[in-house]
Amino acid sequence: MRTSQFKNLLAQLPQLSAEQLANLRAAADLLHQHTQALSSIDAAMAGAGCPHCNSFKHTKNGQGRGVQRYRCKDCSRTFNAATNTPLSHLHSKKQFFQHGECLQKGLTIRQTAKELGVAASTAFRWRHRFLESVVEHQPKDVAGIFEADETYFRESQKGSRNLKSPENSVKTRPARHHGGKPPTGEKRGKSASRKDLVPVLVGRLRGQPYIADQVLGAMTVVQATQALRGVVGSETLMCIDGSAALRGAAKNLGAAYHSVAVSYGPRVVEGVYHVQSVNSYHERLKTWLNRDLRGVATKYMPNYLAWMRMSEWYKGDLKPEYFVVSGLGRQLINT
Ligand SMILES: [Zn+2]
Repeated sequence: MRTSQFKNLLAQLPQLSAEQLANLRAAADLLHQHTQALSSIDAAMAGAGCPHCNSFKHTKNGQGRGVQRYRCKDCSRTFNAATNTPLSHLHSKKQFFQHGECLQKGLTIRQTAKELGVAASTAFRWRHRFLESVVEHQPKDVAGIFEADETYFRESQKGSRNLKSPENSVKTRPARHHGGKPPTGEKRGKSASRKDLVPVLVGRLRGQPYIADQVLGAMTVVQATQALRGVVGSETLMCIDGSAALRGAAKNLGAAYHSVAVSYGPRVVEGVYHVQSVNSYHERLKTWLNRDLRGVATKYMPNYLAWMRMSEWYKGDLKPEYFVVSGLGRQLINT
């Protein structure tokens, strides 16, 4: 638009009714979001190779469904930033940024569906596609004091039977009240069945936002070792609460460890050796999942852990585009 035309447009604005002004504002907002979505996708593309052959020789090749397409000079195939990522089959890529916003704000499925103008089932699918890549975005070879401890969640089949309404799904057994409260302390032993308790192992580097997590089938040396492989090593001093599984894992992975016997003494032993930071993380995680989200399906637990890690890493600086870029597979956190 020429400058003179734009001046004319501005001059006409006072003639708009309140409703027309509101419409104009909404249209401008949408345009702005679209632009931001495109730039975050472009940012994710910068320096990435062709998803078909890994070649770095590619050129821009028009737009498709609102996103930049590229053509590879080596294999001649075209692609966009979402090709071969969990986001590839999501339509209306224009809404990537908007969905990133919903995740950033921590909106519920219902609120997200309303925001995007889609069905709850679509909002649910999008949420999990966006978080899928982030599950793998774990820290590597942490150096320093690393508190590791497990916490337990009730096994939940929420949403597994009827994806169309994940909030009110059919279950194979009577519903528990809001995810329930797992037994703690002495109750955890023989009296309570541990079969329906799912261990979630969380590790946290002291004084830094690096967090590792994994849902385990059982709290065993083998599984703990597997979960922490690549995360801890010779530069790590693990603080653990006396768990034999974690002690075994530390030995297997060549990490130093200090065991804090929680049951027999004060939680803080010799100053720096404690698991308080990771335990406070457990608490916040539980409040969010069990109270705010009213319990989540065990199947999707890794995605929620990933979501929590994103929030922890950025704290108040969490931006919608971070969800888009990491949803496209680029690791932004724990690096
Ligand atoms: Zn190629």
